[in-house]
Amino acid sequence: MPSPRVLLSIDYEPWFALSRRYDTVRDPALRRALDGGFTHQALDPLLEQLDDTRASFYLVGEIVDWYPDVPQKIIQAGHELGLHCQIHRPLVNERELAEDLAASAGWRAHYNVLGYRAPMVGISEAAYPLLKRAGFLYSSSIYAPSGNLHRKNGLWELPVSTLSLLRTPSHLSAPRQFSPRLLAAGEVPYGSSFMIGLMPGLILKIIERELRAGFSPVIILHPYELIRPERFLRRLGPDLAAYPLLLPFTLDKSTFLKTLRRHFPISPLLDYVRETAQATASEPIIQHPTTDD
Ligand SMILES: [Zn+2]
Repeated sequence: MPSPRVLLSIDYEPWFALSRRYDTVRDPALRRALDGGFTHQALDPLLEQLDDTRASFYLVGEIVDWYPDVPQKIIQAGHELGLHCQIHRPLVNERELAEDLAASAGWRAHYNVLGYRAPMVGISEAAYPLLKRAGFLYSSSIYAPSGNLHRKNGLWELPVSTLSLLRTPSHLSAPRQFSPRLLAAGEVPYGSSFMIGLMPGLILKIIERELRAGFSPVIILHPYELIRPERFLRRLGPDLAAYPLLLPFTLDKSTFLKTLRRHFPISPLLDYVRETAQATASEPIIQHPTTDD
């Protein structure tokens, strides 16, 4: 089995993806204007923060249209380039996902994209054959305890990490998003940047414990959590007033990243999937005693 390490992912999206007010805005010029250059300006300082640490960047495809040098720079810096979506909105619906995948087909083929992270970590079981047909090797689009790597219709699913406080979940079918139901079942989705924003010190302790137990935690960060967009809180004001639970996503996590880099081994998700696949041929891998499928 691959050596335990933190599997660091950055869902590289415009700051306004956090607000759901713009999900239905379709005019590409308006969407680009809303971003206001953020996804371009944030990249260099973010790559500097990562320094020699390699991560997975799940990119929102419209950014490729706006700034073609963004995917190039990510790859040149040695990171994995994956897909988050073409336009950021919930894509649990199969038909909408198929359309979105078609819209990103060109640049995905050009950059040989193999990994997928669903927006809002929301996916249905029906998505896996679609992703397989679109050329993906793996997805990281459900929440589940670390140490689970699943075979789903010919695709690997490497979940974003939770800590199971009660009993290990017996059923890991999609969707498994961050929800009151997940929390009520005693699962702490510590891989979510929401949790990292709320209790960074505790999450670092959990990560350390997981690594010692031989697991490889999958965690998510966003560009606006590491590089501050101009007038970030002011522009998100109405959203924060309506949904105070957005606040942890707006907190700066560059100190968290710095501590993470200093103390733990880190790799992109693709490295882990490849190493595991090589080690085990194509058999399903379930390290936890679960009874999936
Ligand atoms: Zn996202």
